Formats: sequence, C-alpha cells, structure tokens
Amino acid sequence: MPQETFIELLREVGALKQGHFLLSSGRHSDQYVEKFDLLRQPQATEEACRQLIELLGPLADVELVVGPTTGGILLAFEMGRQQGLPAAYSERAESGSNARVIKRGTVIRPGTSVLVVDDILTTGGSVWATLASLEVHDVDVRAVAMLVDRTAGQIDFGPPLVSLASFAIESWPADQCPLCAEGVPLVKPGTTDLAPSVT
Ligand SMILES: [Zn+2]
Repeated sequence: MPQETFIELLREVGALKQGHFLLSSGRHSDQYVEKFDLLRQPQATEEACRQLIELLGPLADVELVVGPTTGGILLAFEMGRQQGLPAAYSERAESGSNARVIKRGTVIRPGTSVLVVDDILTTGGSVWATLASLEVHDVDVRAVAMLVDRTAGQIDFGPPLVSLASFAIESWPADQCPLCAEGVPLVKPGTTDLAPSVT
C-alpha cells in the first residue's frame, strides 16, 4: 500500500505531529503535518516523489511537471529530475496576492501535457491558482498529484487527483476544542514554540 509506506516515511522524518495545534484556518487540531520536515530532507523527498510517480502510473507520462511555491517547486523539480522532464514553477503574481503566474521567461508550448504537483491539499487554493496560471498557456493538465490530501477527496479539480495519503484531520472551532477544555497549551505550527521533532 503506497499510503502506509508514505505515512511511515512521514513518521520517520517527524512530519506527522501529535499535540494541540492552531491551524491556519483558525481551528484547533490534535494533529499536524509539517511538510518541511520532509522537504528539508532531499533523500526523503526523493523517496516520496518516487512513490508518487509509481502511484500515478500512466498519469505521470507527461511533458512538463508544474508546482506552486514553495513546496510544490521542490516536488516539481524532483519529479522532473526522476522522469527526465522539465519543471515549471507557479509563483504569486505579486507579494500578498493569491493569483499565480508562471514567471522568469518560462516558455510553454500550447498543448503540452502537464502534471501539477503540490505538497498538502487543505483548501485547494494554491492548486486552483496554479491551474489558472496554466490556462493562459493552453496546456493539457493530465492530473493533480499531492503528497497529502487533508480533505480526503472532497475537491474536484477536473483532472484526476492522486494523493500518496488521503485523510481528514479532525479539527474544532476554538470554543469547542476538547484540548483547550483540558488546558493543553496551544501551539502555532511554524513558530519557534513548536518543539523540534525527534527523528
Ligand atoms: Zn484548542
């Protein structure tokens, strides 16, 4: 099972965390996936991309791999490297903007078959913006590949969605959080408050 192998990899690098977390949505959760615990380790990222390419099968047979900043860039680069394909990067149109564009003189021929890749699917915002940034290039997006789909398959992008792991992380509004009720200290991931993971 790709999912079990990948979740084991997330555990090995310490990316799958248990605790009391403030999510970017404002909700609280007892679980958090710190993607950069994986992406900081090139060998683990290489292994994750190998698993994702294997899971994609024929859907990985494209001409170009495209990912959004920041994690998606690392994944698009590594998946392209493993498959002997070029990569392209979808960046924010301007600082603070949600719109994305393919910048830096990237030339994409109309009709190019494309695989879009990103790290963690939560709201789908960066994938939608990446797809929109590709529309002007008139490409053929064959699939959207994710490391982790935290919506458990709730979003339909059009092209097939393929994820190494798919699970909904339980979360609560702050005023209904059982961990707050127990007085467990709340941690905002990505800040120095978060204890370093043990690998
Ligand atoms: Zn809480």
